[in-house]
Amino acid sequence: MTSTAPTDTDPAVAEQTRRVLLAAPRGYCAGVDRAVVTVEKALDLYGPPVYVRKQIVHNKHVVATLEKRGAIFVDETYEVPEGATVIFSAHGIAPEVRDQARELSLKTIDATCPLVTKVHREARRFASDEYDILLIGHEGHEEVIGTAGEAPDNIVLVQSPEHADTVQVRHPDKLVWLSQTTLSVDETMETVRRLKQRFPKLQDPPSDDICYATQNRQLAVKQMAPRTDLMIVVGSRNSSNSVRLVEVALEHGARAGHLVDYADEIEECWLDGVTTVGVTSGASVPEVLVRDVLGYLAERGYGEVETITAAEESLLFALPTELRRELKARGQGDSGKIQHDAGSLH
Ligand code: SF4
Repeated sequence: MTSTAPTDTDPAVAEQTRRVLLAAPRGYCAGVDRAVVTVEKALDLYGPPVYVRKQIVHNKHVVATLEKRGAIFVDETYEVPEGATVIFSAHGIAPEVRDQARELSLKTIDATCPLVTKVHREARRFASDEYDILLIGHEGHEEVIGTAGEAPDNIVLVQSPEHADTVQVRHPDKLVWLSQTTLSVDETMETVRRLKQRFPKLQDPPSDDICYATQNRQLAVKQMAPRTDLMIVVGSRNSSNSVRLVEVALEHGARAGHLVDYADEIEECWLDGVTTVGVTSGASVPEVLVRDVLGYLAERGYGEVETITAAEESLLFALPTELRRELKARGQGDSGKIQHDAGSLH
């Protein structure tokens, strides 16, 4: 007798059971939203070109879109013509960058995320109290360069749990740790645990340095990963928090994980034998790019989408003071509240 019962390998059944788990929260955090709107408003106010030191946020699409509107991204302050307007990126700057801008008589707008500024304040305060500061972070990342620049004589970088076993300090009795805002929460805690084994008097920061957005996006991925065959993280390779999301997914049970800037980077073979695809995006990623990925997956039978909500977010930051002052002077509102123009970046 021939059985007509459907099997797991039946294409029709596979089609029915394919689905997407969609992370919430995902995408833009308050600091990125503020930084992107800052560039948009500056372009509206002053007209192009407006100079931006470093990528305003670490996302290819955002940078390319703002470039089309007239933003010019430079690596160093001296590349900006004397007297022009320059915006400092969300990752923050070292004090010497501010000095260079003053020497060139640049008009500056500081889009440093307030949560990065908070870490800078902590670094300055502990340095002035003569602490040695162990800064957990990745060498060469713009945020780390900026924070380390606040207290270069007191800060020692710790790059990994393994590095915690060998790092040297001057004053083990007067020691505090701080961190980059976009690290893996679990790996950072492991680094701290190992540091405390060597330096029992190591003090914790006054509050979390890993920001709410990084933590919430990792939390959602941890909840989804065990149910996920493939995790697709939308984000750029130089985006620390996006790269961490792939790592967190793999550590928590996803069978595979990939980072893509755009839907067309997804390779068909990644979907072989995959029933459940997890989708999320880094804190610098506009939602339009996630929608493109969902569209790509829907066309391949992954049309059913279940949202996994790990946290609710409602934080908004006011625009930088310099911009608010200018907007007020021109009668264009003084609340500092972020109002989005219709466009693909939001
Ligand atoms: S990821 Fe966190 S620290 Fe970085 S811009 Fe967003 S809110 Fe600020």
